[in-house]
Parts: sequence; C-alpha cells; structure tokens
Amino acid sequence: MSGDSTEKVALVTGGSRGIGRAICERLAKDGYTVVINYVSRHDAAMCVCANIKGDGGHAWIYRANACESDEVRGMFEEIRRRHGRLDVLVNNAGVTHSALFALTPWSKFLEVFEANLKGTVLCSQAAIRLMLPQKSGAIINISSRSGSQPQIGLTAYSASKAALTNLSRGMARELISKGIRVNAVAPAFTETEMLGTNDREALTHMGQRIPIGRIAQANEVAAVVSALARPDFTYVVGQCIELDGGGSL
Ligand code: NAP
Repeated sequence: MSGDSTEKVALVTGGSRGIGRAICERLAKDGYTVVINYVSRHDAAMCVCANIKGDGGHAWIYRANACESDEVRGMFEEIRRRHGRLDVLVNNAGVTHSALFALTPWSKFLEVFEANLKGTVLCSQAAIRLMLPQKSGAIINISSRSGSQPQIGLTAYSASKAALTNLSRGMARELISKGIRVNAVAPAFTETEMLGTNDREALTHMGQRIPIGRIAQANEVAAVVSALARPDFTYVVGQCIELDGGGSL
C-alpha cells in the first residue's frame, strides 16, 4: 500500500475512451492517482495511462466488466491493496442502443438497463465500503440529457439514464450523512464513438440544432466532473448537472 498520506485516488469506469478518457486525464491533472477501468480495449486503456504518466501524473489500468460482481470485487481489492482508500468514483461506463420503441424487445430493455445501471450499483457499493471509514468521498454518475429529454429511437437508453439520475438522488440522500457526496452529470450529444459517426458534416448538423451551435466535447464533461469531485464543493449534493449547450432554454 502507498504510504503517502496526501495521495488522492479516483476510479473511472470506462476510462479507455471518449468521455471516460477525458475524465481520467482531467482528474490526473487535478492530482489524483487515477485507476483507469476498461472492459475490452486494453491498448486504448494503456494509451490513456501512458499519456497521463507522460504528463507527470499517476495512473494504472484494470480490466473489469463493471457489471460482473466478481470482476468488480477483484478491482476494488486491488485498489484497497495498492492505496487503502478511494476519494472519487466516476461511474461512466455505459452503452447505448438505437431502435424505435415499438421495435425494441423487452430483452433489449433489460440488456440496456443492466449495462447502464448494474455497474453503477456494484461499483458504488464497493466504493462505499472504502469511503465509509474515511468519512469522505465523491461519487459521480454519468447520466444523459436523454434521461430528462428522451430522443426518438433511444427509449431504452433514455429510460435507463432517467433511472440512473434518480438512483443518484437516492444514493445521495442515504450517503450524505456519511460524508459521501453523490451527484450526476447529464451531457447532451458529445463527440465520442458512442455517436456512431466521425462524419464532420453529420456532427456539424447535429450541433446546429443546439443553441450553442455545436455538440459537446468530452473535455467539457470532464471539467464538470472535476468540479463536482472537489472536496470544497461540499454543499452540492444529489444534483444532476445538465450539459446541454442551452438546449433546455
Ligand atoms: P464510448 O466512447 O462508447 O466509451 C464507452 C466506454 O465504456 C469505454 O471505455 C468502454 O470500455 C467502457 N465500457 C462499456 N461497457 C463497460 C463495462 N461493462 N465495464 C467496463 N467498461 C465498460 O462512450 P462515451 O460516449 O464516452 O460515453 C461514456 C458515458 O457517457 C456513458 O455512460 C454514456 O451513456 C454517457 N453519455 C454519452 C453521451 C455521448 O453523446 N457520447 C451523451 C450523454 C451521456 P472499452 O474501451 O474497453 O470497450
């Protein structure tokens, strides 16, 4: 275990790509030792880790399916063994599914709900066991703007993210008396692989429908996560910060 009493440790699920990658890099710049979780793309996770170390930061990678309890248990045992603490958990890993409601079988709803909720539940419960003795910690769940404003063709995803936002509120209610702050961040369309296109014209077109005139960048989501993780953001509890470029105006 590291004997450094000033060390701060953050775990980001799905840290190998997209929004998770930007959050890992931002939290490393903020001084956290970052545990970069991934499920399949080892090389991508290694690349994030190398970038952080190249910039003078601290990080390591761990492969675990956030929805598999044994794998999550192994990941948290390793965090406990190496650091004995966890200051920030970002539940970022998630999947989407595009299909019209009428054509989405119940089995697909269950799949999307499991992918977007189970990892958050398992990782948060494991994180709480580390955070309780510290009497401090921040848990930040990456929800989606679709959770409050469903998109056509994304009903299963939108419903799962609505559940995730309310799960965050419930967790916040129970945990604030223990010194653990839970909040959520709900980005609108953000330029990552999840959008399913690299086509500039298509991305520009998506952005034109948003008051700010463009879709979000992953580092803009990471900036909000960084703020919510700050230990002096003590009075921000159970909030869902919507990053919508003015879309709700
Ligand atoms: P992405 O580019 O598709 O990346 C997904 C990440 O999640 C990858 O790192 C992937 O790991 C990891 N992952 C997926 N399932 C996992 C599992 N079971 N266990 C561990 N890791 C897992 O997605 P993104 O756009 O960055 O999205 C990140 C989060 O933001 C998601 O929760 C998403 O719903 C939310 N969000 C995205 C947008 C958007 O427009 N992009 C908007 C609102 C909210 P591997 O690399 O190993 O496969």
